[in-house]
Amino acid sequence: MSWSFANDPGFQPELDWIDHFVREEVEPLDHLLGSQWNIHDPEFQRLVRPLQAKVKARGLWACHLGPDLGGKGYGQLKLALMNEKFGRSRFGPIVFGAQAPDTGNSEILAHYGTPEQKKRYLEPLLANEIVSCFSMTEPQGGADPLVMRMAATQVDGGWVLDGEKWFASNARWAAFYIVMAVTDPDADPHRRMSMFIVPADSPGIEIVRNYGFYGEPEDGHAHVRWNRVFVPADNMLGGRGDAFVVAQVRLSGGRMHHAMRTLAQATRAFEMMCERAVSRFTKGEQLARKQMVQEKIADSWIELRQFRLLILETAWLADQGHDWRAIRANVAAVKAAMPKLLHDIAARALHIHGSLGLSHEMPFAEWVINSFHIGLADGPTEVHKVTLAREILKNVEPCGDMFPAYIRHEQQARAAERHGAGAMA
Ligand SMILES: Cc1cc2nc3c(=O)[nH]c(=O)nc-3n(C[C@H](O)[C@H](O)[C@H](O)COP(=O)(O)OP(=O)(O)OC[C@H]3O[C@@H](n4cnc5c(N)ncnc54)[C@H](O)[C@@H]3O)c2cc1C
Repeated sequence: MSWSFANDPGFQPELDWIDHFVREEVEPLDHLLGSQWNIHDPEFQRLVRPLQAKVKARGLWACHLGPDLGGKGYGQLKLALMNEKFGRSRFGPIVFGAQAPDTGNSEILAHYGTPEQKKRYLEPLLANEIVSCFSMTEPQGGADPLVMRMAATQVDGGWVLDGEKWFASNARWAAFYIVMAVTDPDADPHRRMSMFIVPADSPGIEIVRNYGFYGEPEDGHAHVRWNRVFVPADNMLGGRGDAFVVAQVRLSGGRMHHAMRTLAQATRAFEMMCERAVSRFTKGEQLARKQMVQEKIADSWIELRQFRLLILETAWLADQGHDWRAIRANVAAVKAAMPKLLHDIAARALHIHGSLGLSHEMPFAEWVINSFHIGLADGPTEVHKVTLAREILKNVEPCGDMFPAYIRHEQQARAAERHGAGAMA
C-alpha cells in the first residue's frame, strides 16, 4: 500500500495552470454574465466559448469521463483536485466541461443510452452545445423519493407522462430532461419508478414558473407540469423499475465534485478573512491580534483541512476500485459535512469584515445562502447523517448483558487473569 500526500509530479503543472487560468480569465466572468447554464445568451457565446477552447486545447475538458468519451479518465482523486481549483469561480465548472447536472446526466447516458441516444444527446452535451436537466423532486416532497407520484402510463409505442416536478434546475435552458416517473405503482417501493429521457420540446411540457434564491443571477429552478407527454418506449433508461439504480450512477461522483467546489468557495472566504484580519485596525491594533479573531482563523483552517482530507480519502477509496455503494458512509459524511463547513467559514468571514462583510460588495451573504443550497440539493443533510449512522452501526453487535464488557472492573479482572497480576485498586 503506497501512502502519500504529494501530487503526481506530472499532474502538478496542470493544477498550476488551472489555478492561474481560473483566477485570471474565468473569475471575471462571474461579475459579467447571468446564469452559467444560459448557453443561449450571446454574451456567453462571446466570452465563455474561447475559454472552453483553451481548456480543450490543454486537454483538460470533461475530465470526469473516460477516454472513450473524450475525457481523460483521471479518476476521482485528480477530479477532486481539479474541482478544488476551478470551483473558485461560478463559471469554472462550465469552462472545464464539468458542470452539474450535465456531468451526472452524461454518466447516465454513457451507461444506459442507446447508440442513437448517445449521438443525439450525449455528444452535444459533452461538447456543451446543449445543457440538460435532471428532474426527480416533486412539489409534495423531495427528501423522500417514495412519495413521488408523477405517472408514466404505458400506451402503444411508449409511455405518457402526467404530473408535476419541482426545482428542476436549468429546465428553462435544457435541451432534454432525465426524469423519474412511476411506472409500477403497486410494486415494491423502490421498484415503482423508471427513468426516462425526454426532449424538452416534447408537446405537453409546461414550465409553470422559474424559482431562484438569493445570490443567483437568474431564476433557474423550474416548477414543471407534464400534461400527457408522450415518450417513445426506447426512451426508458435502464430497465422498468430501475430509476433508483440508474440515479445512483450520477449521485455519488456528483456529491464529491460539489464538495470540492464547496471547499474552494470556503477557501476563498478564508483567504479574505485572513487578509482583512491583518489589514483592519481597531483599538490600536490589528484585528489579527485579537484572540477571538485568532480563534476564528484557527477553527476555519482546521475545518478546511479536515474536510479536504475526508474528501480526498473518499476519492482515493473510489480510485482503489471500491464502488460507490461500498463507500457510501464516506460519501454521506462528505455530503453532510459540506454545508456546515461553508456556512461557518463564510459567516465568520462576513463577521470579521463587519458592515462591509454584510453588504452587497462582499460575496459572504451569498455564500452563506449557498451553504443552505448545498444542504438541500441532492437530499438534505439529515438524510445523509441517517445514512452515515446506519452504515456505521449496521455491523455493531449489541451487548447481551446489563453492563458493557468494557466496564472498567471487568476489564481489570480480565487483564489480571491474563497477566497474573493483581488488580489496581
Ligand atoms: C438549489 C437547488 C437545486 C435543486 N435542483 C434540483 C434538481 O435539479 N432536480 C431535482 O430533482 N431536485 C432538485 N432540488 C431539490 C432537492 O433535491 C430537494 O430540495 C431536497 O431533496 C429536499 O426536498 P424538499 O425541498 O422537498 O424538502 P423536504 O423534503 O420538505 O424536507 C424539508 C426539511 O425537512 C427535514 N427532513 C426531511 N427529511 C428528513 C429526515 N429523513 N430526517 C430528518 N429531517 C428531515 C430537513 O430539515 C429538510 O431540509 C434542488 C434543490 C435546491 C435547493
